[in-house]
Amino acid sequence: MACHAVIPAAGVGKRFGAGMPKQYLQLAGCCIQQHTLDRLCAMPEIHQIVVVISAEDSLAKTLPYARPERLNFVVGGAERMDSVLAGLRALSAAGAAESDWVLVHDVARPLLRLADVRHLLAALADDAVGGILANKVRDTMKRGSADGIVATVARDNLWHALTPQMFRLGALTHALEAALADAALVTDEASAMERLGYRPRLIEGARDNLKITFPDDLALAEALLAEQIRTGVWL
Ligand code: C5P
Repeated sequence: MACHAVIPAAGVGKRFGAGMPKQYLQLAGCCIQQHTLDRLCAMPEIHQIVVVISAEDSLAKTLPYARPERLNFVVGGAERMDSVLAGLRALSAAGAAESDWVLVHDVARPLLRLADVRHLLAALADDAVGGILANKVRDTMKRGSADGIVATVARDNLWHALTPQMFRLGALTHALEAALADAALVTDEASAMERLGYRPRLIEGARDNLKITFPDDLALAEALLAEQIRTGVWL
């Protein structure tokens, strides 16, 4: 079964507030987007790689990637789910099969370890549905309101949903189309599948697979990246 990747990169980075999409910020000498795409391009297990960018983005195609010939760029939509759907449709148009696997990975996660991707591929190879990289929640979790704590949520079965999220091309396209048709805003692929009654698997990944979301994430990402390179643990 072939495996492909879709990288949603059409967000504007509202929460980061840098005045430019956060994937163009510098991290250890090159921008976040280059780190993320160069890592995925280094994996021969991944066949086609589709990068979904915004219609206004004139920078994405010009960056000095390690393997630019591996990247196909398409234009995304208003929400992450629209962008992912555009990427999936591009894969189908390029001849990918309905049963092929697709890894959807946020461009804002440049610290993805290749070993985690291999682990995900191996763990789900024979699975009917697919699953996601995730981390177990370690802190006590509170639900808050303007007045203070409303509830303490048992953390025993709570996970942080990371990416890549791995599903079959046909099933994921159908799930996202169904969510769109029902005007349900889903913030990851797994929740689109969950809505249809599927139970995606949770595959534990490394804790340094950080999504750069707020300005202080950059310094943390630099430190984690330096440690990954020093130890070679990202390979
Ligand atoms: O905003 P957030 O960090 O949750 O976005 C997750 C990913 O989805 C980012 O890689 C972002 O570029 C992408 N995205 C997209 N199209 C949108 C909104 C977000 O590709 N319309």
